[in-house]
Amino acid sequence: MAAVGAVQVHCPECDVALPIAMVLKSPTREGDKLIVNVEPDLTDAVAHVWTHEPAE
Ligand SMILES: [Zn+2]
Repeated sequence: MAAVGAVQVHCPECDVALPIAMVLKSPTREGDKLIVNVEPDLTDAVAHVWTHEPAE
């Protein structure tokens, strides 16, 4: 996987900016087109949101 960029979202709880890496997945071929898949890596954002969850 390769990070190809980043976007930012704001946490709904505390409004902090959360960077989300855009990760390049393995390209696939469809007919004569090369399909490049870019997916957000939400790991860091999810980890942050979890800090707002009440501890059990
Ligand atoms: Zn937050």
